[in-house]
Amino acid sequence: MKRLPALASADRAVDRVLAGRLSAALARPAAQQPCWPDAERAGAVIGLLHNAEPIVAPEETARLHTRLAAVARGEAFLLQGGDCAETFAGNTEPHLRANLGVLERMGEVLAGAAGRPVVKIARMAGQFAKPRSNTVDARGLPVYRGDIVNSPECTAAARTPDPHRMLMAYAHAAGAMDLVRKFCAEGVEAPQPALAGARRAPGEPRFGEAGRPPRPTEIFVSHELLLLDYERAVLWADSGAPEPRLSSGLAHFLWIGDRTRQLDGAHIAFAELLANPIGLKLGPGCTPEEVVEYVRRLDPHRTPGRLTLVSRMGHARVRELLPPIVEKVTASGHEVIWQCDPMHGNTRTSGNGYKTRHFDHVVAELAGFFAVHRQLGTHPGGIHVEVTGEDVTECLGGAAGIAEADLPDRYTTACDPRLNAGQSVELAAAVAKLLS
Ligand code: PEP
Ligand code: MN
Repeated sequence: MKRLPALASADRAVDRVLAGRLSAALARPAAQQPCWPDAERAGAVIGLLHNAEPIVAPEETARLHTRLAAVARGEAFLLQGGDCAETFAGNTEPHLRANLGVLERMGEVLAGAAGRPVVKIARMAGQFAKPRSNTVDARGLPVYRGDIVNSPECTAAARTPDPHRMLMAYAHAAGAMDLVRKFCAEGVEAPQPALAGARRAPGEPRFGEAGRPPRPTEIFVSHELLLLDYERAVLWADSGAPEPRLSSGLAHFLWIGDRTRQLDGAHIAFAELLANPIGLKLGPGCTPEEVVEYVRRLDPHRTPGRLTLVSRMGHARVRELLPPIVEKVTASGHEVIWQCDPMHGNTRTSGNGYKTRHFDHVVAELAGFFAVHRQLGTHPGGIHVEVTGEDVTECLGGAAGIAEADLPDRYTTACDPRLNAGQSVELAAAVAKLLS
C-alpha cells in the first residue's frame, strides 16, 4: 500500500486550505450525532484515531471510481449489499465469509443476465453507526445507535454513548478488511463451464472441486457516512485532479443516509470535500429541486461515477416519485448512477411485533425502478440491499415462504431485517429477469 501524507488534524494539516474547509464543514449542524458524556475523553479518542493506519488505499478507491464511471455509462451494473448494522460480536470470519459469498453469488447471477461486469461493494468493514427515527426507545432509554456508539442492551449504562467504541470499531473494521482482501485473493470458483480434461501447465492455478480454477474477485467496502467524529479522523490529503480533496482511509465508498442529507448540514459539506465516490439516499420526502442541488454540490466537475443516487421510495410510490427526480437530473446534464434500495421504503411491523419486509414488496419496488428508467431512457444502474449469507428469518416471503410465525426462529439483526441467503439469490434472479 502506497502511503500518502495524512491530514493528521486541522492544526497539523499538510494542506491548510483543505483543513480550513474541513473545519467549516464540521462546524455546520450535524444530525444524528451522539452526545458523548465526556467531551475530553471523546477528544482523546479522536486524537488516537488521527494516528491510525488507513484501512483502504487511495489507489483502490481510485479503481472503484473507474469501475463506477462504467456503471454510470450503462456498461456495468452495481451490486451493493450486506448487514444493516455490523456488530462487534458478529465480526467473525464465518459471518464475513457468508456475506461476501452471497454477494459473490448474487453478482454471478446478475452478470450472467446483464452480460456486463458487476461491480460489488459490501456494506462491511465499518458499517457500525445507525441513524434512528427516535432519540429514545419505548422504555425511555437513549436509543441504540450502532456498536460504534453504544450497546443495544436495555440498561442506561449500556446505552450511554462511549467514545472508546470508535477505537473498537476501527480495529474491527481493519480486521474485516484483512478478511475481505484474503477472500478476494483466494478467489472463488469460476462460473464458466468446467475445463474438464484440460491439462494444467506447471505453475497454473490448481483446479477446485468442480474442476475449475478459482479466480480472484474484487469487492470494495462501504458504510454510511454518519458518525463525523469517526469519519473525520482518518483522512488522506489527495492533491489529485480535478481539485485537491480528502480521501477517506476508512472505506472506498461512503453514502449519506436519508436522515442526514440536509443541504445546510455537515454531512453534505463533508462529502463535498471527499475524493471518494459518494452515495446519497433519497426517501419519499425528497424533492426534485433538492436533488438538483445535491448533484450540483456533490458532482461539481460532472464526473461520471462520482455520485450514486439511491432511491428508496417504497414499492407503492416509486413509479410516482422517481420520474420527476430522474427528469430533473437528466436535464441538469450530470451523469449519476441510479441505484435502487428496495429495502428501506418497505419496512413494516409484523403482527407479532417484528420489524420486517416482504420479499414481494422488495421485488415490486425494483420492478417500478426498472420501469421508470426504461420509460425515461436512463440506466437502472444498480441495487443496494440488506442481505446476509446466513439462514436468518427476518424478511417475509420468498420461495421458502417465511411467514410471520417464523420470524422469531432466527431473527438476529442488530437493526433492520435482511434477506437471507436463499432470498438474496432469489432476488438476484428476479433482478436478472428485469435486466434481460
Ligand atoms: C441504511 O442503509 O441502513 C439506512 C439507514 O438507510 P436510509 O438512510 O435510507 O434510511
Ligand atoms: Mn438499514
